[in-house]
Amino acid sequence: MGIAENTADITRRVSEALKRSGTPSREVKLIAVSKTFPAKRISEAMDAGLFMFGENRVQELVSKYDELKERKTVRLRQGKTAPIEWHFIGHLQTNKVKKLLDVPTRYIHSVDRMEVAVEIDRQLQKRGESRDILIEVNTSGEPSKSGAEPGKTAELVRQVAGFSTLKIKGLMTVGALTEDAAVTRRCFAELRRIFVTIREEAVEGVEMSELSMGMSGDFDIAVEEGATMIRVGTAIFGERPGKD
Ligand SMILES: *Cc1c(COP(=O)(O)O)cnc(C)c1O
Repeated sequence: MGIAENTADITRRVSEALKRSGTPSREVKLIAVSKTFPAKRISEAMDAGLFMFGENRVQELVSKYDELKERKTVRLRQGKTAPIEWHFIGHLQTNKVKKLLDVPTRYIHSVDRMEVAVEIDRQLQKRGESRDILIEVNTSGEPSKSGAEPGKTAELVRQVAGFSTLKIKGLMTVGALTEDAAVTRRCFAELRRIFVTIREEAVEGVEMSELSMGMSGDFDIAVEEGATMIRVGTAIFGERPGKD
């Protein structure tokens, strides 16, 4: 199937999952994870009405952004248009931060430690800019995964909130790598619990409105558990060329 058909199918599944979630009118943003696919495929996705793109490597994001930046909007149905957005979803190293900020990302999803926040702030200060970010949480406990420890997330949020350049808008997680839906669901439910706890704390400058969770294999569960953004690659573009 092509991108347009795949996207229609995902959109249908999202609305089914929304009905099961109890909050059917919640908006769920579909972020097309275009990593490893060439700019040409991203253009095709834009023609199919997708306008939010997620990349996990800084250099790859920068080069695709440069290639595609002349195009500012995507045409949607009913004569509407949407501005193209770039989302950074990958593990962040401090030495790549400066380069990353060359792209006007809509959200950086993967701030998971102070060291990175300090560097983003330092570089943004120089530019006189700010960025919307999410705090990544390791809900699966898998040591290979990025993300703050669940029990330390609230403290990280309070610390990062001290940087006026960094606008915290919510949390992000990658669910456990498993076939067991109950385990996956537990990861997403935990992210939502942390999100609600932090929201109730009402930390100054922190807005808890976005929950970025769910990928090709588990976005239905994520939407049931409250996702406001899902990050979907394979189910839109097909199998990735080579490994990611
Ligand atoms: C690759 C990736 C995705 C998308 O994965 P699919 O299984 O292809 O949908 C989502 N989130 C992150 C952080 C990724 O690296």
